[in-house]
Amino acid sequence: QRYVYRFGGGVSDGGKGDRNLLGGKGANLAEMASIGLPVPPGFTISTEMCTRYYDEGGRFPDSLRDEVAAGIAHIEGVTGKMFGDKADPLLVSVRSGARASMPGMMDTVLNLGLNDQTVEGLAATSGDARFAWDSYRRFIQMYSDVVLELDHGAFEEALEIAKEDNGYFLDTDLTADDLRKLVAEYKALVEQQWGKPFPQDVHDQLWGAVGAVFGSWQSERAKVYRRLNDIPAAWGTAVNIQAMVFGNMGDTSATGVAFTRDPAKGDRAYYGEFLINAQGEDVVAGIRTPQYLTKAAKDAAAAKPASMEEAMPETFTELAKVFDLLETHYRDMQDIEFTVQQGKLWMLQTRSGKRTAKAALKIAVEMAEEGLITREEAIARVEPQALDQLLHPTLDPKAVRDVLTKGLPASPGAASGAAVFDSDTAEKRAAAGDSVILIRVETSPEDIHGMHAAKGILTARGGMTSHAAVVARGMGRPCVSGAGSISIDIKARVMRVGGREIAEGDIVTIDGTTGEVMAGAVPTVQPELSGDFGTLMGWADEVRRLKVRANAETPLDAKTAREFGAEGIGLCRTEHMFFDAERITNVRQMILAEDEAGRRAALAKLLPEQRSDFVQLFEVMAGLPVTIRLLDPPLHEFLPHEEAEFAEVASAAGVDIDTLKRRAAELHEFNPMLGHRGCRLGVTYPEIYEMQARAIFEAAIEVAEKSGAAPIPEVMIPLVGTRRELELMKIVVDQAAQAVFADKGRTIEYLVGTMIELPRAALMAGEIAEVGEFFSFGTNDLTQTTLGVSRDDAARFLGVYVEKGIYAKDPFVSLDVEGVGQLIELAAERGRKTRAGIKLGICGEHGGDPASIAFCEQTGLDYVSASPYRVPIARLAAAQAAL
Ligand code: ADP
Ligand code: MG
Ligand code: MG
Repeated sequence: QRYVYRFGGGVSDGGKGDRNLLGGKGANLAEMASIGLPVPPGFTISTEMCTRYYDEGGRFPDSLRDEVAAGIAHIEGVTGKMFGDKADPLLVSVRSGARASMPGMMDTVLNLGLNDQTVEGLAATSGDARFAWDSYRRFIQMYSDVVLELDHGAFEEALEIAKEDNGYFLDTDLTADDLRKLVAEYKALVEQQWGKPFPQDVHDQLWGAVGAVFGSWQSERAKVYRRLNDIPAAWGTAVNIQAMVFGNMGDTSATGVAFTRDPAKGDRAYYGEFLINAQGEDVVAGIRTPQYLTKAAKDAAAAKPASMEEAMPETFTELAKVFDLLETHYRDMQDIEFTVQQGKLWMLQTRSGKRTAKAALKIAVEMAEEGLITREEAIARVEPQALDQLLHPTLDPKAVRDVLTKGLPASPGAASGAAVFDSDTAEKRAAAGDSVILIRVETSPEDIHGMHAAKGILTARGGMTSHAAVVARGMGRPCVSGAGSISIDIKARVMRVGGREIAEGDIVTIDGTTGEVMAGAVPTVQPELSGDFGTLMGWADEVRRLKVRANAETPLDAKTAREFGAEGIGLCRTEHMFFDAERITNVRQMILAEDEAGRRAALAKLLPEQRSDFVQLFEVMAGLPVTIRLLDPPLHEFLPHEEAEFAEVASAAGVDIDTLKRRAAELHEFNPMLGHRGCRLGVTYPEIYEMQARAIFEAAIEVAEKSGAAPIPEVMIPLVGTRRELELMKIVVDQAAQAVFADKGRTIEYLVGTMIELPRAALMAGEIAEVGEFFSFGTNDLTQTTLGVSRDDAARFLGVYVEKGIYAKDPFVSLDVEGVGQLIELAAERGRKTRAGIKLGICGEHGGDPASIAFCEQTGLDYVSASPYRVPIARLAAAQAAL
């Protein structure tokens, strides 16, 4: 079996289709080489080797040595330099590369192949001793950090002291001699910390680095990242070994990172940063302030240092051509890494760029309009969940802001929360329910868990392409980076800015769209949805088959839902209307009544209130279907639970306190979820459902008369398990309808149906459909009753269940398609057999979950119903499911 795949110098053993085998980086390096772009030659050790390495207890098979030797020979052949050669040494980088780009993996080692002898050769052939010794000190520093895992603080300190001793400000001020001395210090540090001298044998260096890449696949950081992003451990990582090119060979050399379009806003403009006379991660590490790529961006930011467009016009033109070529070739926005060595451009990486939801929309729509991708592709490109970022509030522009400072607008959106200065604290406080803003000098992959827990991220250092910025955009967290005027005193747990102190726990607000950092909380407003949102949603609506409704009971929610494109209400929970402070007294009187007459008297007072609820709702939903679920929760939920409340409630309801207590005790249930609730209430107290039905029909006629547009009420009976239950309840509803119609001299269209939320109902769906005119799958209860898991008590063990792979995802968030899904399919099939074309929908929490929506599409349901803010997500997910 083969493990090594070459690229560069006219060969490409792989291509972009091989990301599973070669990892994303390796596959794209091979692809770029194959389309004629300047890629330093190299080879990739496949992900299969990683898997085998772990299977065999962390050892390489002997055959790999020969393959790697052949790979090195390939690079030597193309470059004309020999690995380990004292006169003109080949240097390589060792780069990890999983299928999905993954922070947490081993950092790249650059300049591998330098030792006490080859450094002299490099100095001689390049004619630049400073460059050679700078490369060597970088190599020792990186290798010690990422491969030997020594304390990197000591190396940084030695570097700082070297600069201070000479009165230098920048790394680039160090001379060849300074660097030579620094190298000696570094080597001493290695010996002291590692107990052995720094490896001088270049092959030892190489195998050490390769082993470290594979080893990092099982690092804690990588595991956390995989868990958060659903990446299987079995995928493994590849290793890329590639000839070095040097951006640190003086002022005609540089290194940079770029996006072919703006990853924050989506504008069609090259976007990026570069640094002259620098290497590798200098740009993102914030060692010096990077310079802009284009003149336009530089001018817009009123920055001083020349842009690349101005400083290196020819190379910039070449680079711009490469950007265009890569974008057309990959048909997507690319995130690119490049190096310029003495005027010559080299491409070191390309991949589809991470972007904000706003940018994703804009890029998808514009690329479709440019003809680069189809509309279907545009629809498929935007992750439905990501829309969430756009639908949520931004800072109120009119609110007073106590601005502390301004950094770079690295990831849009606004967030307020308690200031915390380390990731562990962020995680702890977030778990305790606090909103936190993570504030760091800069972030590293070790901060992933803290960034995930935080509502927003603020860094003192780093540009728009810094770790913090990139990761925050990917996570959809607002981020302000490079707020240079803040200083963080980690020991005192305070941040100082402009003469003020913010202690840990103080509330701060960041605006990732403007870069502002503010003291205190700032109120927010609803965002305006851009034209791109409307365009893409319009395209999605054209291709989707599933209708999308909303779960809503208040006119406000219903309005929001309609603005977001809801095509009706899929679930109006009437009990929510009963909890209103004024009404609850009438509800309690009804519950406390000793007989039917007493109950009817209380219900008569509730009728006009309930009717006016429905009038308001029907007005918003004029002409659209509205599914109304009759009373569902057990009655004791409406009675007080605290001793302190009893007296007041009793007097408001006009009963004595003992009666109230006795009634509350009578209504107590051991297992309310399976108790006296749902249609069981209607069966025992039909007058409750009768009143609700009356209110619905009276309201519907009132609205029809006022506006001419009659709503289509769909009266839904909850928790039905047998045909007879539904039949009894349908009689109650139909009689109420007839009475109202006779009263008003006018009829309207309506349906009576049921929720399918018990396994028995699903099994008996054939019979139930003889009575029910529609089914709505109540997947919250159906999941509880099928799994025998109470949603309210599941928190104690469900996390562990998901961690141990018992359920792939929380079954209350994403439908258990394997189990609960079978019941839905079966009920749909049996229902349709009895009643051809029976209307089928889903109204559980799952109605807003893209994976569950895909299942609903497959099962041929008619609609999904989601909470108002998830309506756009559901529309897009439904379209993707239909593609
Ligand atoms: P990451 O996955 O963290 O981006 P990379 O493997 O892309 O790590 O390496 C980081 C940086 O190191 C690159 O952007 C590039 O600047 C530099 N680099 C990597 N390989 C080489 C090389 N062969 N020559 C010059 N620079 C390199
Ligand atoms: Mg890195
Ligand atoms: Mg990279």
